[in-house]
Amino acid sequence: MKFLDGRSMAAEIGRGVVDDVERLRQAGVVPTLGVVLPTSDAAARSYVRVIERTAAKVGVRCIVHELSGDPTELLTTVDRLAADDDVHGLIVQTPLPAGLSAADIGARIPAHKDVDGMNPLSLGRLALGLPCFAPATAAAVLEILHRSDIKLAGTRTVVIGRSPVVGKPASLLLLAEDATVTVCHSRTTDLISIVHEADIVVAAVGRPRMIGKGFIRTGATVIDVGTNVTDSGLVGDVDAEAVASVAGALTPVPGGVGPVTTMLLLRNTTSAVTP
Ligand code: NAP
Repeated sequence: MKFLDGRSMAAEIGRGVVDDVERLRQAGVVPTLGVVLPTSDAAARSYVRVIERTAAKVGVRCIVHELSGDPTELLTTVDRLAADDDVHGLIVQTPLPAGLSAADIGARIPAHKDVDGMNPLSLGRLALGLPCFAPATAAAVLEILHRSDIKLAGTRTVVIGRSPVVGKPASLLLLAEDATVTVCHSRTTDLISIVHEADIVVAAVGRPRMIGKGFIRTGATVIDVGTNVTDSGLVGDVDAEAVASVAGALTPVPGGVGPVTTMLLLRNTTSAVTP
């Protein structure tokens, strides 16, 4: 069984980002990511700190706007950053204040700054195979599979989860690579036997260690998107210890999808700079 090391992949992508940042700086532009943090949620704040640290390493300017949770302040801030030419990428961290949906907020992020694919139009363009920024986590799933030379065309792939930020865009990206994609969710019946058919399993459920050994066919590739904070620390949606004895390849948690996601956000920010 091979662990698919997201940290080393992120470092490799980061070297390319550093080169892009250098080129842009020489042209007089400092690629800048605006991060709006409208919540005091501990997990959200800690993720934003990770983005800040990673951005500093690769030379992307990251400006975090910490807000009180007031909906009007959030809308005004997003609109101001959307109109600011010095901000190239813009993300809004969830959870959002009550009464506002991710689609409401995403629709206010211009497509060319939508580096985490929050705008509903970005998901629509993704579905149609048109150029757009895909949500970074979904893109990270594909990046890991590509970098690990895992064949996608014609393979049976099961995505567990259908959220607009992970499951749905990941399945669209896999479909675009000619995988035969089945999407499962909380109403799926006989989940184990469906997942057991898969050559590639993407777990994006949000339930600690839910996917055990019995779900996984011998030799399958398992991408664990889950990040669940438990009493025993951060764990994935996959019971890694058990699944490692049957899978062919597995992303660890932490150190799998997470670091690649963050780096893709920064790569997208450099791509969002228009010459
Ligand atoms: P979400 O919005 O809560 O979606 C969870 C999905 O799982 C839903 O589609 C839900 O089905 C499905 N589900 C729930 N219980 C299930 C069950 N028993 N059997 C089958 N499907 C079930 O979560 P998310 O935002 O997609 O995140 C998923 C996981 O990824 C979380 O652990 C999150 O922390 C993690 N995540 C990681 C990163 C990263 O960079 N590594 C980024 C984002 C999220 P329904 O649609 O029917 O409710």
